[in-house]
Amino acid sequence: MKREQVKEQYKWKTEDIFATDEEWENSFKTAESTLDFSKFAGKLDKKEILLEFFRQDDKYSALLDRLGTYAHLRYDEDASVSKYGAYYSKIGALFAKYSTELAFFEPEMAKLDENYLKSLLEDKRFSDYDYVIKKIIKRKPHTISEQEERLIGMAGEIFETFIETFGKIDNLELPLSEIEWEGEKVKLSHGMYGIILHSDNREKRKEAYEKYYNAYTSLINTITSIYYGNVKKDVFISKVYKYGSCLERALFEEDVDKKVYENLLQAVSGSLPSMHRYIKDRKKLLGYDKLYFYDIYAPLVKGADLKLPYDEAYEYVIKGLAPLGKEYQELLRKGHDERWLDVEETDGKRNGAYSTCCPGLHPFVLLNYKPTISDIFTIAHEMGHSLHSHFSNENQPFAKSFYTIFVAEVASTVNEVLLLKYMLNNAKDDNFKKYLLNYYLDTIRATLHRQTMFAEFEYGAHSMAEKGEPLTKDNLCELYAGIGKKYYGEDIEHDFNISCEWARIPHFYRSFYVYKYATGIITAINIANRILTEGVQAVKDYFKFLCGGSSTDPVSLLKLAGVDLTTKQPFDFAMGEFDKTLTEFEKLMGI
Ligand SMILES: [Zn+2]
Repeated sequence: MKREQVKEQYKWKTEDIFATDEEWENSFKTAESTLDFSKFAGKLDKKEILLEFFRQDDKYSALLDRLGTYAHLRYDEDASVSKYGAYYSKIGALFAKYSTELAFFEPEMAKLDENYLKSLLEDKRFSDYDYVIKKIIKRKPHTISEQEERLIGMAGEIFETFIETFGKIDNLELPLSEIEWEGEKVKLSHGMYGIILHSDNREKRKEAYEKYYNAYTSLINTITSIYYGNVKKDVFISKVYKYGSCLERALFEEDVDKKVYENLLQAVSGSLPSMHRYIKDRKKLLGYDKLYFYDIYAPLVKGADLKLPYDEAYEYVIKGLAPLGKEYQELLRKGHDERWLDVEETDGKRNGAYSTCCPGLHPFVLLNYKPTISDIFTIAHEMGHSLHSHFSNENQPFAKSFYTIFVAEVASTVNEVLLLKYMLNNAKDDNFKKYLLNYYLDTIRATLHRQTMFAEFEYGAHSMAEKGEPLTKDNLCELYAGIGKKYYGEDIEHDFNISCEWARIPHFYRSFYVYKYATGIITAINIANRILTEGVQAVKDYFKFLCGGSSTDPVSLLKLAGVDLTTKQPFDFAMGEFDKTLTEFEKLMGI
């Protein structure tokens, strides 16, 4: 389909940001010519000047964000339109200039007297910036000299080499062979591999699995070097900034207590008997003597579907999210009616789905809607992000309106869990119920267990490197295989390929990132259940979190919604939810 063929009501309203391209171009010129923060450098020790700096920066970055949002939305509509491609690169270059212009800020703030910084916290005029200032004070023990800072800055591009090189291999040069699929010979790709692994053709799954892993194992020495390089880089940086370990640095950056990480690993390890039971059930239900890793996504329940045209699907989501109250539902409707969403798949449009926010404006959502169950969940998911942005935007000053990665997947997943429970309660037949329970189990397995398993691996690899042990293909594969056996148990065949799985995970080049997926779903399961059992009070608490933006550290924000990740309780509850869902699934399946 061509974009011109799409009805206006299914296209997002980018005119809300800039009415015309000319307006964008004029604003861009203004932004380009007014980028000047030099008058503040060296003077941040004067309160008035610091305050003026903060305010000017708010104004300037809000303008940049609006320009950036418009450019990337227009670009994503159709990447073949070179005009917006040019907008996109122009704004990218301006962002880079802006961050160079502001490079003096952090080192200068870090050098300021602690009493001066603390006095800012008492001054009401600085209340929009108190969390930023608190973080600067907290970071003091980890500051280095200006000379050192400059050197690290210069090496920044070199540090990116590992992730870039892995990306080049993974996206361009991976020696993937061909496979025959639905009567056609196609080159195996990441997407194709996913499709085949989710199919019920076992022979094809096996073939795809072997061919896919062959591509990685044929490069295992190279990938080991790249990954080892990346870990060494982490160890180097954490030492330079005087952290006890790479993990300590990562958690410090997120402002997250180490207890949260420990609770996660402990709770998941303690709950593994239910995961082993699920694997055993899988083997039994598929009727295999031996279960392999290429059987792990094979469908267990067939013939269930919910095919709804977009408007009906959207209405269904609004109904499903009724426990969040009328205000929430009205906002969802507003988003639909006032064109926050870009719905249809068209030529040149970016694939997948996302939500993005624009300062002082409503959020925008990109979809490529197809009438499937998973796309109904996508609407709920992306609108979860959107309304989180909406509430934080409305209730926080600009400087605190953006939420951080640690809490980013909470609101989206709360919506998914609520919608799933609505679907389960309204399922017309047992087959659909079975499908949904299995969908829930697989979601938890992929987002909670699997990501925690990854977290254990990267923790192990970094610990080895920190102790000065070299990382080799053998000890990395041994480490991964050991963790895999612990997580999946005896009922699945742990072959050589799966011990090399670590070599194909792009996220490992952003160290200590994946555990946040696990804590996100754990929090969401807790919040959704609290809303369903406690009602109004739980919704009120949840809204406090939605309105919180980045006004304080993420763990405190989640406490507003009634989830305290420094205790074991929410972790145990989420693991219990998996076990309970499994029991229900087993009962319905008659096993
Ligand atoms: Zn998301």
